[in-house]
Amino acid sequence: MIFDFLFPNRCLDCNQLIDKREIVCEICKDKIHFSHHRFSENNGLKEKASLLFPVENAFSLMLYEKESLAQKIIQQLKYNHREKIGKNIAEWTIEKLNFEDKKPDLIATVPLHPKKLKQRGYNQLHIFANELSKHFQIPISHSLLQRTKHSKAQAKKDQHERLKTKNAYQLTEKIRDKHLLLIDDVYTTGNTSSNIAWEIINNSDNVKVSLLVMAMDV
Ligand SMILES: [Zn+2]
Repeated sequence: MIFDFLFPNRCLDCNQLIDKREIVCEICKDKIHFSHHRFSENNGLKEKASLLFPVENAFSLMLYEKESLAQKIIQQLKYNHREKIGKNIAEWTIEKLNFEDKKPDLIATVPLHPKKLKQRGYNQLHIFANELSKHFQIPISHSLLQRTKHSKAQAKKDQHERLKTKNAYQLTEKIRDKHLLLIDDVYTTGNTSSNIAWEIINNSDNVKVSLLVMAMDV
């Protein structure tokens, strides 16, 4: 194909020519720091998240270090219109993730603010999460959560108004008796996951929240 000839697919790290379905070559893939978390057991992400909210289980695929390949991959996914990288990251997740007897029964993605969605043109989590939903046969919702306030608009408000609208995420429907898996790209401060988890816990009946991210800050 002419397109492949003009724009051959290259490894994100070493620039070597690679199969058009891949994002890095085999050698560079070996350089990625995978977390080797077990979803059903205690691990670094679960420990961190537990300080902020009651998290049932947690899994991070990679470690997000400065200048690392994991960082490069996620930046391409988010800021360089390479939405399909989500599929590659999902394949790696499927290779390494085993829910054992802790399989969640609903997946929800962290929503983008509508303004950001318009700028970017896509939510970087959708392809990734859809692949996991398909493989593990877990129903998914991209609209269970809604992003309500833009942080800039938030800053202009007086303190009273800010308190009223403290949570930037809202649950769009009440859920009950579920083990929900929340999906995000990078876990850094944990603010996003924590805000969402409390919103869910405070507005639902008997819902457990687990967390899955592409990478976690170390
Ligand atoms: Zn390479």
